[in-house]
Amino acid sequence: MSYLKVKSPFIGISATLLTIESGCLMGSERTAVGHGYIEAIQLAGGIPFVLPIVDDEEVIQQQMEPVDALLLSGGDDVSPLLYQEEPEQGLGAILPERDAYEMRLLHMAIENKKPVLAICRGLQLLNVALGGTLYQDISIALPLALQHNQKAQVHEATHTVAVVPASRLRQIMEEETFLTNSFHHQAIKELAPGLRANAQTKDGIIEGVEGVDDLFLLGVQWHPELMFDKHPKMLKLFRAFLEAARDRSKA
Ligand code: MN
Repeated sequence: MSYLKVKSPFIGISATLLTIESGCLMGSERTAVGHGYIEAIQLAGGIPFVLPIVDDEEVIQQQMEPVDALLLSGGDDVSPLLYQEEPEQGLGAILPERDAYEMRLLHMAIENKKPVLAICRGLQLLNVALGGTLYQDISIALPLALQHNQKAQVHEATHTVAVVPASRLRQIMEEETFLTNSFHHQAIKELAPGLRANAQTKDGIIEGVEGVDDLFLLGVQWHPELMFDKHPKMLKLFRAFLEAARDRSKA
């Protein structure tokens, strides 16, 4: 009798660099990933795999080999130079080496038909990587917009998101509207070719995107990994992502 253990999909989660701001290691840098992503991927049945920023093309390729699907995580602003704009007053911190790294990860994933889930900054990077642009700061560009950088606690669902009927997101969430948290001061200005908006808030800000073809390419502007504990329906996003990753790893 033999036991064929089903291999769980490896989910690569892009990391950031954090500079230690106090103590004896002050000034040194650490690779960091929000723990909520790791917990959510594990709960959804995946093997979380942290992808630290490197710059060697060959190393990046080998990092991506065991990865069945890519999660682009949240973080700093994308450099506006990447969408042919100069930095405006409202731009936040940027980390160009992370932009370059994640662009490579994303293009490798797409070339190899690996599913992508892009969260917050991830959605913005996805849009820029495919040729779109961003509002560098919502409060300056769109002063009448809602509060998208909430003061409430991280798990708190503060604004209403309306989902586009007949979208992949609608199929996954099984609801036309729901509440999400919101921790972004930037947003999509011009949508990239190859993406379509699948969700928005009442002020017209794009809160979700998906690829126009069959590949699982999903971006959300909110942070489901900080919500699923109190709002279990947010796990649906990660479960759908894992299902796509399983299909891909079987192929
Ligand atoms: Mn928002």
